[in-house]
Amino acid sequence: MTQEIITLKKMTNLFNQDNLLSASEILKKFQNWVIFAHKKIDGDAAGSVSALFTIGQNLGKKVTWLGADKDLPISYKFLANSDKFISCESLNFNEPETLYIFLDCSNYERAGIEGFSRDKNINSLNIDHHEDNTLFAQINCVDGQASSTCEMLYRLFKAGNWQITREIAESLYTGLCTDTGGFIFSNTHSESHLMAADLLSLGVDPSRINNLIMKNKTPENFKLWARAFERVKILDKIFAVSYLSANDFTETGAEFSDTTGLPAALMTLRDIKFAVMIYEYTNKEISASFRSCEGSPFCAGEFARLLGGGGHERAAGASFDGSLNEVIDKIENFLTSKYHECSCINK
Ligand code: 5GP
Ligand code: MN
Repeated sequence: MTQEIITLKKMTNLFNQDNLLSASEILKKFQNWVIFAHKKIDGDAAGSVSALFTIGQNLGKKVTWLGADKDLPISYKFLANSDKFISCESLNFNEPETLYIFLDCSNYERAGIEGFSRDKNINSLNIDHHEDNTLFAQINCVDGQASSTCEMLYRLFKAGNWQITREIAESLYTGLCTDTGGFIFSNTHSESHLMAADLLSLGVDPSRINNLIMKNKTPENFKLWARAFERVKILDKIFAVSYLSANDFTETGAEFSDTTGLPAALMTLRDIKFAVMIYEYTNKEISASFRSCEGSPFCAGEFARLLGGGGHERAAGASFDGSLNEVIDKIENFLTSKYHECSCINK
């Protein structure tokens, strides 16, 4: 396969049939599909793999779902084919007749699986909606304007004329709904609602999906959030910073996936324009989530990239080495110094 870049630009290209058809042709060509999404899987990542997995199955393909997480979070276990998820740390990317498909990964390291390299002649397809995607695969379908990877798959399935069954519609709706924060974030467009309307007509029950994804918090989850809320620190009146240590997870009995929604909750604080949530896992791996809104001196994506991470304009993240206290200090200092730099420039 020759190196090829398919960039699905702005929403005006929403129905660019040529690009979508090329992606669907590649998928048709390979009998074996191996699908990955990013580590610390979220609703869009899990929904996209589930949807594409089921399409592949209906097309008679041999499909495998691999991921670096130990297991799928319980909230996504209702998704079609979620029982096929296989935890995997490394892989030989040279099986014959096999297409390796990365979903919702802005770079291949996000999948967290050793063995992939952009230099190798690996049959690979990358479908993603992060504007900072590194176009690491042989075929790259990237649309930074799409609300979610699920929205891109929806367009792809329509272009390929592949039947969207009720269970596929549920998977696509899960990604659309979670990545738009329930149709309220700034990545929500009229196209998102039109897609949702179509998915509802295909049998999706929004209240059922909402209950499955959102209405499943545990007392442990609440205890974890309480610790994060107790520690919120406000800097320069517009920044909110909080953290969770490895001990917090152990002592409350909460899971890492219980942090979903916490950065967005910090953003509901009055006057806050930028929120930082820092997490330490048991193995001393530290990461942070960044969120920004209109009025912030810098956007979350830009801030994350300066710290070696990435993501979207208003929702981004990064990973760090060092102790939790060092990382908290580093982020707080960077936040305030960058803010004062910006205010100097604006004076
Ligand atoms: P979250 O804060 O919900 O984990 O992630 C928000 C967004 O930032 C997601 O789109 C996610 O893919 C991206 N993101 C989170 N952590 C990282 C990271 O370490 N590196 C990169 N490149 N993106 C990240
Ligand atoms: Mn996504």
